[in-house]
Amino acid sequence: MLVLILILCGNAVFAQTRYDLLLKGGHVIDPKNKISAVRDVAIRDGLIAAVAANIPATQARKVVHVAGLYVTPGLIDLHAHVFAGSDGVGLAGGHTSIFPDTFALRVGVTTVVDAGSSGRRNFANFKKTVIDTARTRVLAFLNIGGAGMPGDAHEQDVSDMNVNAAADLAMANRDTIVGIKVAHYRGPDWTPVERGVEAGTRAGIPVMVDFGEFRPERPFQELVLQKLRPGDIYTHAFYVPVPMLDEKGRLLPYLFEARKRGVLFDVGHGGAAFEFRQAVPAVKQGFPPDSISTDVHSGSINAGMKDQLNVMSKFLNMGMSIEDVIYRSTWNPARIIHREELGHVSAGAIADIAVLRIEKGQFAFVDSWGARMDGTQRLIGELTVASGRVVFDLNGLTREPWDRLGQYQPQGEPFWDGTRGSARPR
Ligand SMILES: [Zn+2]
Repeated sequence: MLVLILILCGNAVFAQTRYDLLLKGGHVIDPKNKISAVRDVAIRDGLIAAVAANIPATQARKVVHVAGLYVTPGLIDLHAHVFAGSDGVGLAGGHTSIFPDTFALRVGVTTVVDAGSSGRRNFANFKKTVIDTARTRVLAFLNIGGAGMPGDAHEQDVSDMNVNAAADLAMANRDTIVGIKVAHYRGPDWTPVERGVEAGTRAGIPVMVDFGEFRPERPFQELVLQKLRPGDIYTHAFYVPVPMLDEKGRLLPYLFEARKRGVLFDVGHGGAAFEFRQAVPAVKQGFPPDSISTDVHSGSINAGMKDQLNVMSKFLNMGMSIEDVIYRSTWNPARIIHREELGHVSAGAIADIAVLRIEKGQFAFVDSWGARMDGTQRLIGELTVASGRVVFDLNGLTREPWDRLGQYQPQGEPFWDGTRGSARPR
C-alpha cells in the first residue's frame, strides 16, 4: 500500500513539473505563426513546450503571470557592434564596440548580429572573447576588410579585402558567420561591394552594405538596383543622403523596384544614420524597413538611438502596428540571416522570449541628427528568457516577496535557472 502511495505521489509530482516555466495570460505576438492573442507559453529544457489558450498552472514548476503584457519571440538586433575590448576596434568618432550582455538582454534582445566589427584576421579573437562567452547569442557579418573596423585607414585599404579568405572563413564558421559586411568606403569605385558580393556568393550567404560616402561615380540607385543580389541588405535605410523623396515629398519609385528585386532595407539607426525626415514619410507612404536594428556602439547608445526598444517605439509612434514592429524585429531578421530556428515561439523552438509592456503617456524620441518626435507610447522590457532561462526581470515577476521568505539566503544565481540541463543561450 505504501509503495502504491509513493508511486501515485511520484506521478503527481511528475505531472506538476511537466514544465519548467509557464508564462500565463500574456498577449502572444508570434508573426511567423500568425498569432496575436492571449495565450499561455510553457517552457521545458530550454525549448518552447506548448503555446495554448489555457495551460494549467499546476503543470509548471514556476508560473509567471504576465496578463496585460506582450509575449514575443526574443528580439533579434540585425546590426550591432559587440567586439568589445579589442585593441583597435573603433568606429567613426572614436565610438567603440560594447559587450552584448551589457545592453541586449535588458531590452528583450536575445540575439545580436555583429555588423562587421571583425574581419578574417581577428574573427578568432572575437569568437574567443565575446561570441563564446556572452549570454546573449552573437552571430556575425564578417567584414570583407581583413581586420574589421580598426579605423578609417584600414577600411579604405582595398588590398586587404580578400574574397576567398573571407568566404573560406565564413564556410568554416557557419554556426556563427551569417553574412559578409562592406562598410564605410569612400573611394569612387565599386571594388569593396563587388568583393563582398563575390564572397557572399561563394559562401552562399547575404551581404550587408553600409554605403559609406555617397558619390556621383557610384550612385546609390545602382547599388540597390544592380550591384546587390536578392537577399542582400542595405543598412542605414533612413539616412538622409539616401535618395528617398522627390521635390514634392513623394517616395522615389526606384525604392519599390529595389524591394521588388529582393534587396532588403535595414534600419541600422546608429549615431548618424536615422533621420525622421526620411523615416516618417517613408513609413507613411508604404516603405517600412525589412528589419529594425540599432547599430549600437558606445556613441549611439547614449544619443538618439538608446536601445532596440527605443528604436522600435519610434516606429510604433509613426503608426506601425505592434504586430508589424515585432515582425520586423524577430521573424523577419531571422529569415534575412537564414536562421529560421529563431524568431518565433513554435512548440519545439528555442525558448528565447521577450515580455514587453507598452507604456502610455507623453514621450519623445530623438533621431541621429538631434531632431525630436513626440509620441504617446513606449515599449519597456519586463522579462527576458534566453534558451529557457530568465536572464532579465525588471520588476521581479519571477521572485517572491522578501517578507514571505523568512530568514532568507541568497536566492540562487542572479538568473533564475529554469532549465534542468546546462544549456546556455547560443
Ligand atoms: Zn554599424
